[in-house]
Amino acid sequence: MNALSHWFTRRVIPWLPERFQQGKMPYLVLFALFMIGVMLVFALTSPYEHGRIVPLVAAMVLAVQIVLLYFGMPVSVAVHMATALGAAQIVFAVWMTGGLLSPRLAWLYVLPVTPFFVFGRRSGFAWLGIVWAIQLGFALMAWGTNWLPAFEVGLEHVTSSLITYALITVVILIVPLIYDDQHRKALNQLRLRQHELEHKKQELQNTLAARDQFISTVSHELRTPMNAILGFNALLLDQAHNKPRAQEILEHTRQSADHLMTVINDVLDFSQFESGRLKARHENFDLRHTVQAAFDLFAPKVKSLELDYQCTIDPALPHWVSTDRHRLMQILVNLVGNAIKFTHQGQVHLKVTWLNPGVRFEVQDSGIGIEPEQHEHIFKRFNQAGENTQKRYGGNGLGLAITQRLVQLLDGQIGFESTVGKGSVFWFELPLVAVQGPPVEVKDATEDRTVAGQFCFLVVDDHRLNRLLVSQVLTKYWPQSRILQAESGPKALELLSNEAVDLVLMDMVMPGMDGIEATQAIRALKGPAATVPVLGLTANVNPADLEKFTASGLQGVMLKPFEPKLLRSKVLELLQTP
Ligand code: ADP
Repeated sequence: MNALSHWFTRRVIPWLPERFQQGKMPYLVLFALFMIGVMLVFALTSPYEHGRIVPLVAAMVLAVQIVLLYFGMPVSVAVHMATALGAAQIVFAVWMTGGLLSPRLAWLYVLPVTPFFVFGRRSGFAWLGIVWAIQLGFALMAWGTNWLPAFEVGLEHVTSSLITYALITVVILIVPLIYDDQHRKALNQLRLRQHELEHKKQELQNTLAARDQFISTVSHELRTPMNAILGFNALLLDQAHNKPRAQEILEHTRQSADHLMTVINDVLDFSQFESGRLKARHENFDLRHTVQAAFDLFAPKVKSLELDYQCTIDPALPHWVSTDRHRLMQILVNLVGNAIKFTHQGQVHLKVTWLNPGVRFEVQDSGIGIEPEQHEHIFKRFNQAGENTQKRYGGNGLGLAITQRLVQLLDGQIGFESTVGKGSVFWFELPLVAVQGPPVEVKDATEDRTVAGQFCFLVVDDHRLNRLLVSQVLTKYWPQSRILQAESGPKALELLSNEAVDLVLMDMVMPGMDGIEATQAIRALKGPAATVPVLGLTANVNPADLEKFTASGLQGVMLKPFEPKLLRSKVLELLQTP
C-alpha cells in the first residue's frame, strides 16, 4: 500500500492539472476515476435489465463532474452530488436484483466514505443516516407488501455477485489506507517542521544571549573609562574651589562627559527595551526630594541663559512614594533637558500636582514648539522635528522614545501640547500613592565613628585607575581610614585572611575570578572575614546580571560611574548596618 501511495504521489499527482494537485483533490479525483472503472466493470458484466446502460451513464456523469471540478465547481457540491448519484444508482441496482436480498445493497456502505474523509464526521454520519433510511425503505416494502422484485436466477449471477463483493472490499479498503498513509506522511513532515522550528528558536535564543552579552560588554567597556573621567573630574572640581578658571574648564569637561554618558545610557537603555528586559525596580523614596534634585541638576546650566526657571510642587504632594526612583529621575531629566535645550529665552516651568491618587508632572516651556505634522512622530525613535534640528541642537532622537517607554514601564501615561513659536507642555501621570516613610533614625555613636572614620577598606578592581579613584573618594571622606587594594579576586581573599577589613568594594567584572565568584569565596571563608559587607561596583546595567550580583551575597550594588557623594552615602549605610 505504501508503494502504491508512493507511486501515486510521485508519478500520478505531478501529471494532474494544477487545480487537482492541492490538498485532498488528488485523492478525490483518484477515487472518482476508480469509481468510473468500477462502473465500467459493472456495465460489462451485469446480467440484469438496464444493467449495462445505467452504470455507463453514471460513469459519464462522474467524468463530467471531474471536468466541472476542474473548471471551479466547489468540492462540496461535487462530492455530495456524486454521492447522491451513487445512491440513486445503487437503489436502482438493488431494485433490479432482489431488493433487501440483493448483494448490491452492500454498496450503500461505500457511500459515506468519501464525505467522511473529505469533510469529516458530520458529513459521514449524515450520509450513513441516508444509507440506513434507504435500507429501511427496502425493508418496509418487503414487510408491508410482501413484495420482492422478480429477478432471474442463473449462473452468471454468481459471477456478478462475486465481483460485487470483491470490488466493495477493495473500494472500502483502498481509500482509508491511502489516506492513512498520506496522513502519516503529513504528520512526519509536521514533526520535521517542528524540529526545524525548535532549532530556529534555539538559534534565536543564542543570538539574544549573545546580544545581551555584547550589551553587557559594551556597557562595561564604555562605562569603566567614563567612571574614571567623571570621578577624577569631581575630585578635581572639589580641589579647585578657589581657582575659578580651572573650575570653569573642569565644568566644561564634566558637561561633555555627562553628555557622552547620556548618549551611552540612551543607546543601552533602548536596546534593553527592545529585548523587553528593562524592569522597574521599586523603592520607597522622597518624591519632593527627587523632583527637586532633577530640577537642580540644570540650575548651573540655566544660570548662563536668559531663562525664568521655576519648579512648583503641590503642597498636597505626598513625601514618600514607591516607584523606580532612578527611572523617574531619568524621565524628568529628559523632559526638562529638552525644554531648556529648545527654549532660547522665556520660561521653563516644572510643575508637579497631586491628583489624589496619582501625580501629574508638567514641563512647560516657551520655546520653539513643534510643527503639527511632527506631532504623531515625536515619540518614535531617532525622530527629530525638522531637518535642521540635529544641526542646530544636536541630540540622537532617542530621548523621547525612551521617556515614553519609561513612563509606560512605570504604568503611567505621557502626552504633550505644542504650538510653533509659542512653546510646548510635556506631561506625564504616574499612578503613585502615598507610602509610609522610613522611621526617623536616631544617630548613635557609630555614626560619629563612621564620619570620623577609622576604617579599613579593601578595594578590589583589575583597573588601576578605578582602584585609585575609589581609594581617593574614600580617603576624601574618611581621611583616617586604611585602604587596601587588590587587583584580583584571589589577591583580595589573601588580604582578607590576614587583615580585619570593615568593607569590601568589589568590581564585578574582572578577568579570572569575577566579582560574583570572589564574593561567594569570601562568604565561604572561615572566621569574621566571611561576614564582611561587600559593595559591588559595576558598569553593567543589564538587569539580569544585576539580579545575579545581588543573589551572590553582596550587600549592595553601585552603578558606575558613580557620584562620589552617592558612594559615600552607600558606604555609610553599609557601615551602619549591624
Ligand atoms: P533629541 O535627543 O534629539 O532631543 P528627543 O527624542 O528628546 O531627541 O526629541 C525628539 C525631537 O522632539 C527633538 O529633536 C525636537 O525636535 C523635538 N522636541 C522635544 N522636546 C521639545 C521641546 N520641549 N520643544 C521643542 N521641540 C522638542
